[in-house]
Amino acid sequence: MAYKDPEKRKASRDRYRAKHRKALNAKAVARYAAHPEKERARSAAYDAANPEKKKASRAAWRKAHPDEVKTYNAAYMPGYRADHKEELKAQKAADHAAHRKERNAASVAWAKAHPEKVKASSAAWRKAHPEQAKTRNAAWAKEHPEERRTGCARRRARKKGLPSTLTAEQWRAILEAYKHRCTYCGSKTKQLTQDHVVPLTKGGGTTRENIVPACQPCNSKKFTNPPSKPVQLVLT
Ligand SMILES: [Zn+2]
Repeated sequence: MAYKDPEKRKASRDRYRAKHRKALNAKAVARYAAHPEKERARSAAYDAANPEKKKASRAAWRKAHPDEVKTYNAAYMPGYRADHKEELKAQKAADHAAHRKERNAASVAWAKAHPEKVKASSAAWRKAHPEQAKTRNAAWAKEHPEERRTGCARRRARKKGLPSTLTAEQWRAILEAYKHRCTYCGSKTKQLTQDHVVPLTKGGGTTRENIVPACQPCNSKKFTNPPSKPVQLVLT
């Protein structure tokens, strides 16, 4: 029976195929056995014309045959990997680059949630790679002069059990307030040190109220003596 309506025609064809699946399959197998080259070319042409269908049918087959997929992969993947080393490497790198942002955000979030673990793992890394750690530290210090200076001063103050709350941001604000000049001689230098108005030895803390910028010569000269001139604290 012939249908004019394409929908009806398709439905009728599907019904027929479902009813005679076994016979049709046997016929296809016989056809393939008789003319393998021709059938392969026909199927390749069909796949080329219907890439989405091929993809879907392949995915469906893989899903329905997990064991065959596993066996196939075990047998062929090592060889495939060896033959497509560069290609796979490039693909992996591209994937990696494409998801950098997500990955970074995820690791930042994780690090924030696990500060102790981060601390322990970076300590372990530093212990295992002392030379690299040194180089990295030096590079970081060069990039972050204010952070480094506040970090050093805070560490010294902490060792003495003195208050040490000065942040790099506060130190930058102090430098701004003093117009990046030495408090004592007024010289403008990039190498301004953090001078404790009340020295560490006299119990002065590394705090916003007790720190002024001083050039290295003035800081050394002053050392643990009281300031050579009264210090105006602009940021108290
Ligand atoms: Zn000076």
